[in-house]
Amino acid sequence: MVNMETQAEREKKMTWQQIRDESIGMLKETYTAVTSGYIEKEIQEERYEICEGCSEFIKILRLCNVCKCYMPAKTLFNKSKCPKSYWNK
Ligand code: SF4
Repeated sequence: MVNMETQAEREKKMTWQQIRDESIGMLKETYTAVTSGYIEKEIQEERYEICEGCSEFIKILRLCNVCKCYMPAKTLFNKSKCPKSYWNK
């Protein structure tokens, strides 16, 4: 069963410092990934296929339930990482 806790519900349990620190961490990770350049098309397709078979993938939205990223975009970049380390590359 997919955990459908929303970001807003999660944030209600956090202090503002935790929200700030998590937001800064996510922005740094996104900046690093997006500025790392595009990965080869074959690897992007392999990553996306792994996501499509993953229990954390929300098919209708094409989002990862763990990192909340839009996977057609996240799989494009060299330094993007699967939060569960399911990708090979
Ligand atoms: S990024 Fe990883 S955890 Fe998220 S949907 Fe893809 S394979 Fe699953």
